[in-house]
Amino acid sequence: MGKNTVNFACHHCGHCCTDVICLPTPWDVIRIVRNTGGNPYEFLEFITPEEIEEVSKNDQAWLECGDEQFMMALRRDERLGCHFLDKKTKYCTIYESRPILCRLYPFRVTEYADGTFKGFVLHKNVGCPKNRDGVYQVKPLYDLYIEDEKHYEDYYRMVRVFNRKRYAGKSPEDFIEMFITGLKPGSKGEQVWQVQSDKKSKSPLT
Ligand code: SF4
Ligand code: SF4
Repeated sequence: MGKNTVNFACHHCGHCCTDVICLPTPWDVIRIVRNTGGNPYEFLEFITPEEIEEVSKNDQAWLECGDEQFMMALRRDERLGCHFLDKKTKYCTIYESRPILCRLYPFRVTEYADGTFKGFVLHKNVGCPKNRDGVYQVKPLYDLYIEDEKHYEDYYRMVRVFNRKRYAGKSPEDFIEMFITGLKPGSKGEQVWQVQSDKKSKSPLT
């Protein structure tokens, strides 16, 4: 599996929770809802290609509503950062339940010529100061990476189903309903999530 460790230590500068747009998978959202009771209609937002130029316009996670494209993201304030960032302590308030992308940051996967997994290195241009005075074990990162890959395949499949739907008033928030229906904070899926009345829309699955 390549090197067993990567030299890195987070010094909590806050950059990745303030200046970086976090793109959760539906599984990240479900975990946050179950573990924290957060309302996905409040902590998610849907951003346009102009707002996140780093993501290719051909990325499979783009949701289509009419002629417009949207990407599911954690809500953030331009100045204060992520919805879940404690504005005083600058620590993540959902640390144990945070999205996989947050867990992998600032690591990047490297592969051998045949596409098999080689190891992890630190991303070059993501704004992290990349302090090297710590040691990260690769195995937990590798497990996260594998879990992330698997979820992305399912995520893309779900997006394709959503994008095939055509109905009046379709909005990107309707995508939330595709994976959150049947969930309520703290439940194992027995009860239906109570959607805010002003955000409720027709189910994209009907
Ligand atoms: S979820 Fe937590 S770790 Fe991820 S960007 Fe928000 S505050 Fe930072
Ligand atoms: S940018 Fe790097 S050092 Fe700063 S909080 Fe994020 S991971 Fe830690």
